[in-house]
Amino acid sequence: MNAVIHCPPLQRTATVDRVLGEFGPGGGPVVVVIAGVHGNEPAGIYAVLDLLRDLAAAQPTFRGKLIGLAGNLAALRKNVRYIHCDLNRMWRSEILAEAYGNGSGPLPRNCVELAEVRELYDQIKSIMQHEAGPFYFVDLHTTSSVSPPFIPFDDTLTNRAFVEQFPLPGILGIEEFLPGTLLSYITRYNVVAIGYEAGQHHEPRSIEFHHAMLALCLEKAGCVSREHYPVLARHEETLRQGANGLEGFYEVRFRYAIEEGEGFRMLPGFSSFQPVAYKQKLAENNRGAIVAQESGRIFMPLYQAQGNDGYFLIRRVARFWLNLSKILRRWRFERVLAWLPGVRLLPDEQNTLEIDTRIARFLATEIFHLLGYRRQTTQGTTIRFTRREP
Ligand SMILES: [Zn+2]
Repeated sequence: MNAVIHCPPLQRTATVDRVLGEFGPGGGPVVVVIAGVHGNEPAGIYAVLDLLRDLAAAQPTFRGKLIGLAGNLAALRKNVRYIHCDLNRMWRSEILAEAYGNGSGPLPRNCVELAEVRELYDQIKSIMQHEAGPFYFVDLHTTSSVSPPFIPFDDTLTNRAFVEQFPLPGILGIEEFLPGTLLSYITRYNVVAIGYEAGQHHEPRSIEFHHAMLALCLEKAGCVSREHYPVLARHEETLRQGANGLEGFYEVRFRYAIEEGEGFRMLPGFSSFQPVAYKQKLAENNRGAIVAQESGRIFMPLYQAQGNDGYFLIRRVARFWLNLSKILRRWRFERVLAWLPGVRLLPDEQNTLEIDTRIARFLATEIFHLLGYRRQTTQGTTIRFTRREP
């Protein structure tokens, strides 16, 4: 069933279906863009439609295919983040099983998003069955705060090599704080899967930044070249201006999780990437001031009612560590690490390291990040890390 997506602040209206549109003959690289996973973020939908229209008019030589998909259609219709459940936290096996009617999961039967997750996943599976690939998935978002465009992604070497080509900052490690994202789920298929945050929800520039990024994705994936699609140079310049000097990779170090009923309010005026000092006052709740847990840069401060990520703190990752981690991952250095007391590679799942923190207390989370592992579960003194690279 189609949806009318009307956004007065952006002065745009569009009538869309789950498949927003396609371009290209197929039989090569496939760029799959998912827009509006959060229903109050329609800028991505308009940008996909703009790009499809541009391509149809310019008719550049094109290898492979571009496919645009709509995320939470029910929420997009109402211009809300979600109706019953955040569609970007539902990509877990027990919820997918529930969505497909296999057993009872944690969500109530009437949860509107169970149908959304099923329809979207059906499309994704069908694309991967019918197209040759390689596949590039891009999940489009906008933020409630002012922000330059940036690329959050699960830190696999495949993703990293793709992200490095854009004149934009990349964000590592957010998935450790946000379980059940669409991208983390898709990353398991050994494809490129990246997020993209284009700016503030209702800022017209956000549509432009989405459009520019998607056009460059087509170039980096090998679908189009500058020779046949000269507008790419202008799109690159648009992104460069948007990034405003920010580049390289940043790691998420802290997430402020909002508790039910705590009355969280961000202090006004913070924008993503703004430097903050240790103990600087950032927000308030019913108990008083909330101050920065460490120095760094504030990231995605929350200026809307829905959502429970108050803010994040990030820090730049030095090129040295990025290079070192590339080498260590190629060596599968965790096999050496597993010789240490208190560390073991689980025999049944070669992708999981189990750490007994009473014994291996000297090992910091950063070491596992370096090796391409993310913290999965903590039970008592045992922490499990799983490998991001499938
Ligand atoms: Zn979003």
